[in-house]
Amino acid sequence: MSSENHHKVAIIGSGPAGFTAGLYTGRANLNPVIFEGMQPGGQLTITTEVENYPGFESGIMGPELMDIMRKQAQRFGAKSIYTEVTEVDFSKRPFVLKTYDDVHTADAVIISTGASARLLNIESENKYMGYGVSACATCDGFFFKDLKVLVVGGGDTAMEEANFLTKFASEVTIVHRRDEFRASKIMFDRVKKNPKIKFQTSKIIKEVLGKQENGRKTMTGVLLEDTKDHSTLKVDADGLFIAIGHKPNTDLFKGVLDMDETGYLKVKPGSTYTNIPGVFAAGDVADKTYRQAVTAAGSGCMAAIDVERWLEAQE
Ligand SMILES: Cc1cc2nc3c(=O)[nH]c(=O)nc-3n(C[C@H](O)[C@H](O)[C@H](O)COP(=O)(O)OP(=O)(O)OC[C@H]3O[C@@H](n4cnc5c(N)ncnc54)[C@H](O)[C@@H]3O)c2cc1C
Repeated sequence: MSSENHHKVAIIGSGPAGFTAGLYTGRANLNPVIFEGMQPGGQLTITTEVENYPGFESGIMGPELMDIMRKQAQRFGAKSIYTEVTEVDFSKRPFVLKTYDDVHTADAVIISTGASARLLNIESENKYMGYGVSACATCDGFFFKDLKVLVVGGGDTAMEEANFLTKFASEVTIVHRRDEFRASKIMFDRVKKNPKIKFQTSKIIKEVLGKQENGRKTMTGVLLEDTKDHSTLKVDADGLFIAIGHKPNTDLFKGVLDMDETGYLKVKPGSTYTNIPGVFAAGDVADKTYRQAVTAAGSGCMAAIDVERWLEAQE
């Protein structure tokens, strides 16, 4: 293997966690490489305006923010490799990372492969993502002041998001494919008592409806289908929040790294250390609670500092 393919630090994933880890390890002269994966820039590249990332008083478009983060990391020597890591071997040092057509080794690895929101997988959902459709109430609820929104899902997350959204929206309708809810009783009771929340049960979203005016897309409602008699119903709404769960991108590490029952990587509390010394985890991949760009970036910084100290201790 060429020495070009050996790195002091390899970062898997190019969201806010990966780029922040790249920025810090770059500034520490560790010449990091960042495997950008199938979604260069991470989850924020599929959204429009980000209003809650500190430092951008008037907000910034998601893809632009990620471009700035990449350039900032590159300024200090971080190198992007535009491919996916397909296999890892953490059983020996240096660690081995395989891509589709290459093999790399690294003294330390930061995993920042994120988590993906589970989506409905209908074409129109994709079309209006960021233009009415969202997978994050904390991020986008503020944009729906005095508007009508829908929340899809039947678990605790959906209940929590519906409740949260009533702070902004004039009306919140929970759409659920069954007539029973998986959510805990306490969460469901809270939702039932909220006068702003309505229900559409035994319904699935068949299509997201919208219009395009002056080059701008806007969602206008949805077409629901009854799961029992297959009748359809058009419902007007300005927003649709998908709350059917998240999947951490950890398939690559199954049987290798410790994970919780839902697949999130486990780290030593208050740090980014995984169960394998020299392998660190940052961002949404190890955080099922907060899942925000700023928390991902914060833990990317933690991972870089952990790596720097760990490498120093090895020498
Ligand atoms: C629609 C939407 C809107 C959002 N809006 C906001 C907002 O306004 N404010 C906010 O704070 N948060 C928002 N979030 C949440 C925020 O995007 C995430 O919390 C944040 O991006 C997590 O960062 P991360 O670095 O952990 O990973 P991610 O951004 O998830 O990035 C993961 C990276 O890992 C890479 N990857 C995965 N597997 C591999 C592999 N095998 N090899 C190489 N690379 C791999 C991917 O290509 C990607 O680059 C939003 C999320 C969504 C979906």
